[in-house]
Amino acid sequence: MQYPSENELISPCGMNCSICANYLAMKNQVRNKGVKMAYCKGCRPRNKNCSFLKKHCNKLSNNLVDFCFECEDFPCLRLIKLDEKYKSKYKMSLIENLILTKDEGIEEFLDSQKSKWKCSKCGNLISCHNGLCFICDLKEIRNRKKKYQWE
Ligand code: SF4
Ligand code: SF4
Ligand SMILES: [Zn+2]
Repeated sequence: MQYPSENELISPCGMNCSICANYLAMKNQVRNKGVKMAYCKGCRPRNKNCSFLKKHCNKLSNNLVDFCFECEDFPCLRLIKLDEKYKSKYKMSLIENLILTKDEGIEEFLDSQKSKWKCSKCGNLISCHNGLCFICDLKEIRNRKKKYQWE
């Protein structure tokens, strides 16, 4: 299977799909290893936005902006609400991601993400949705009822 490039994995709302549990589940083919999880190849590659932002925003749905930071209303109320959820549940800020991408450029942002979300055992990326590595922590993921939360 052809995987998207790293740059394609930064969504318009600032999500880094490469640390999403559903992306990592797909990348590591966990369904073949006894883990029942949805697969997703990323927001841009599937030409959708996983959050409700795209459904409710005509700029995103009509591709008028590539990233929310290009929008004159940035950060809008919906983005702020989504950001609050991500900050409290998933230890990351979409708005901060967007500001970093805008100020430093996407390459710099991707580098900082690689160190922030690095698995201490194997060096691959862990998921922001549960803090787990889909290689080293596979057994724990398999046994967990709630796969989308930190413990
Ligand atoms: S579910 Fe959403 S955050 Fe996860 S990979 Fe798909 S588009 Fe990205
Ligand atoms: S910041 Fe702008 S482009 Fe992004 S969701 Fe809000 S209104 Fe839409
Ligand atoms: Zn690991």
